[in-house]
Amino acid sequence: MAKATKVRLLDSGTLVIDQSHITWNVGCGTPVRFPVYSVLVEHPDGLIMFDTGYDLDVVNEFLPFELPEQTEQQTVPAQLELCGFKPDDVDVLVNSHLHFDHCGGNRHLTSATVWMHELEIREARSPEPFERLGYADKTWDHAEAKFNLISGDLTVADGVHLFYTPGHTIGHYSMLVEMDGRKPLMFMADVSYTPAAYAADQQAGFHNDPVAGVRSIRRIKQLVKEWDAEVFFTHDMDVFGTYKLAPDHYA
Ligand SMILES: [Zn+2]
Repeated sequence: MAKATKVRLLDSGTLVIDQSHITWNVGCGTPVRFPVYSVLVEHPDGLIMFDTGYDLDVVNEFLPFELPEQTEQQTVPAQLELCGFKPDDVDVLVNSHLHFDHCGGNRHLTSATVWMHELEIREARSPEPFERLGYADKTWDHAEAKFNLISGDLTVADGVHLFYTPGHTIGHYSMLVEMDGRKPLMFMADVSYTPAAYAADQQAGFHNDPVAGVRSIRRIKQLVKEWDAEVFFTHDMDVFGTYKLAPDHYA
């Protein structure tokens, strides 16, 4: 058994939403630009990716008001190349959930088995009216895609753990990566977007079940304590500026 050797953050560009969507109902009328990224885990058992950012064409078509800024260099193929990989080198792709800014690059990873919660795929294919825009990207759902539908907490490979953290969406997962000689890394995806929101048990305005969402924030806090993990926030520009970005890595 051996743990992951390198973890990299792949930049996927930025989007704009209203502050009230980041801190549920608070801060209406203030537009905020925020980062989108995915996580690449080099593991002796294979190359694992957690989320795939957004697809510029899809956002321009369905959500142009989020003012996407994504260069060619910030696409999944270009980010993988920066790390010395090709899209079909990825063995396992885990989608934290299927909102458009977490699955936009799925279609490039033609060799990967795609792990997602069994309820998430159902919801994304047939969303509630209020979730339609979040699930606007359907490019992940193609005939060649090999899905591994999962539920509950589980381990993808030695030291790569998925924790079921619903609320933001019905089938939301967070990922914790253990590595030799350093603290584990906790990627909570969209459980809470920013350090300030997380500190206040505040979830995003986009949610399937807000009560479950608050429970998931508290669960993440408990896990972070138990594992003595370093927390990574998904959608905060300030903190994103302090992270090491690909091709740089955590080891
Ligand atoms: Zn989301």
